[in-house]
Amino acid sequence: MLRWFGYIILALIVIGAGAYYWLIVDSSGPSSGYTIDMAEVRSLANSIKNDKPTEIRIERIAAFKMPLTAMIAGESWNEVEVPVYSYQVAYPASTVVIDTAIDGRQAAKDNDPTFDASAFARMQEAMKAAAAIVITHEHLDHIGGLTSHPDIAAVLAHTKLTKEQVDHPEKMGGLKFPDGTLTGYTPLTYDKYHVLAPGVVLIKAPGHTPGSQLVFVQLANGKEYLFLGDVAWRFENVERVRTRARLVSWWFLSEDRDAVMTELAEFKRLHDAEPNLIMVPGHDIDHMAKLATQNAFAGTFK
Ligand SMILES: [Zn+2]
Repeated sequence: MLRWFGYIILALIVIGAGAYYWLIVDSSGPSSGYTIDMAEVRSLANSIKNDKPTEIRIERIAAFKMPLTAMIAGESWNEVEVPVYSYQVAYPASTVVIDTAIDGRQAAKDNDPTFDASAFARMQEAMKAAAAIVITHEHLDHIGGLTSHPDIAAVLAHTKLTKEQVDHPEKMGGLKFPDGTLTGYTPLTYDKYHVLAPGVVLIKAPGHTPGSQLVFVQLANGKEYLFLGDVAWRFENVERVRTRARLVSWWFLSEDRDAVMTELAEFKRLHDAEPNLIMVPGHDIDHMAKLATQNAFAGTFK
């Protein structure tokens, strides 16, 4: 009797360890199948003969917290800050906004202490003035500044949501566009690459969400950026080709994890081949601090 009890306990431990490994530690997956042709991307970035952008500005709008292992499978359970950013690509006479963060007053019922209301206000003004607005994907912490914008009709007129982003409101984490605002809206459709503006190219990268895309930016001074959206939350996802814990991919995000793995493998290849290409992951407080020391960004929005 005691021996059977021992076997059952042992079996439970083995099953538990296996489940823990599968849900939290494992980051196996396909390593090829997604490619970015940088020669083509650069040629597209230069296909509009007009002034290139001169600098990129950044706002940190809010921050979540998450165990590190949720962001990089097999890492520690220590909580790390998960900042939420918006970017302003500045031309001599116009701007493009990348990602619209989240309205902290909407995210948290009571006052969210991490929400920077003045940064959010600067972003909302910038969204009105922008020549174009794009989002890396349709999650609430990237689309929330758009759905909550007080002048949403005016702002949507120059917002380039893709068809995939518009077609998947279930990915918006409970947010929605005010009734009727998308009536008559013509989403952007493209295959692999799309020239948004001089020096700015959108690159399809479905997997994290159906509407996920990367944004490549080439400045007039030659500096180049690749905004990874949330394909990579942290830069270590690229360097170590390790994605999120499966529990997060599968249970919380229901993302196409294999697609994400092939994209991370391609980012790693690209990073090794082109160390000067500045990769900007979705929510990496440490990597952003490093990029700040390299003057990758030129202060807050204007
Ligand atoms: Zn995000």
